Amino acid sequence: MLRAVLALLSLAVPATAGDFLLVHPIDCDLDGPCYIQQYVDHDATDAATDFTCAGLTYNGHKGTDFALPDRSYINRGIDVLASASGTVKGIRDGMPDTGYSDTTAAAVQDRECGNGVVVGHAEGWETQYCHLRSGSIRVKRGDVISAGTVLGQVGMSGRAEFPHVHLSVRQDGRVVDPFDPDGEITCGAPDRTTLWADAPQYRAGGIISIGTSTAIPDFAEIRVGDVAGATARGDALVIWSYLFGVRKNDILRLDLRGPDRITIARNIEIERNQAQAFRAIGKKRKSESWPAGRYAGEATLLRDGVEIDRQSLTLTLP
Ligand SMILES: [Zn+2]
Repeated sequence: MLRAVLALLSLAVPATAGDFLLVHPIDCDLDGPCYIQQYVDHDATDAATDFTCAGLTYNGHKGTDFALPDRSYINRGIDVLASASGTVKGIRDGMPDTGYSDTTAAAVQDRECGNGVVVGHAEGWETQYCHLRSGSIRVKRGDVISAGTVLGQVGMSGRAEFPHVHLSVRQDGRVVDPFDPDGEITCGAPDRTTLWADAPQYRAGGIISIGTSTAIPDFAEIRVGDVAGATARGDALVIWSYLFGVRKNDILRLDLRGPDRITIARNIEIERNQAQAFRAIGKKRKSESWPAGRYAGEATLLRDGVEIDRQSLTLTLP
């Protein structure tokens, strides 16, 4: 009985600074198909390090980027969620989902956040959500909202080079990394206390997606999510993989096997650190068509000889 009373009391206690906890700001699994592309930069110089002292950030980055696998997912309407309860302090909507390039740089200047929402919380905390899909924002200034309230949808407005929601967390105007709120980075040994109710797993690079095609695809097609798959009469049979956070000397193993002992397989060594990359291998068609039946493809990413990610696919040709 006493325990039940205490449990009720603890639910009723108002939040204090130490109780400020965040839920994930995106309605998508961060172990795939979605992922975290960039964390807060902890390096005060021109260099950049994330809270694990690795490179999943860039100089001056003040938030965490929760990414969709490609631009086609914008049209699926992936919700952006309030990370904590509070009051909407401001919104902006109506900017196009064109992303950042030389041609859009002038249009997004001073509006880098794109379509965004700022939410105020207790104890001087504030969260900001950027790059939302044009026309998707569902809240207005003054709305009192709960953790998990839908604010809008993930897009690519403002200074965004890939579709994602950028979450900034601040207290009294100071940037706080939700993965490392005390700001003292402990390379390799993550803080035991984060601001997350359920901290996303740190993925130090991985596979965003894999697919097949009839030719080596363009990177632009992969990023848009517009690669047509392999066909029975395709000029080539190709397997490709789209990657994030790859490092020099990582090994990507691509493997595609089908009927009649068709085997396309190779270990590809990554030659430099890259935020995003893709690799593809294939074979040219020499007979009338590729053998009919079921094909199995796999991409495996290895770092220091240890598998860090894997994705597979199946394909059936008529
Ligand atoms: Zn960002």
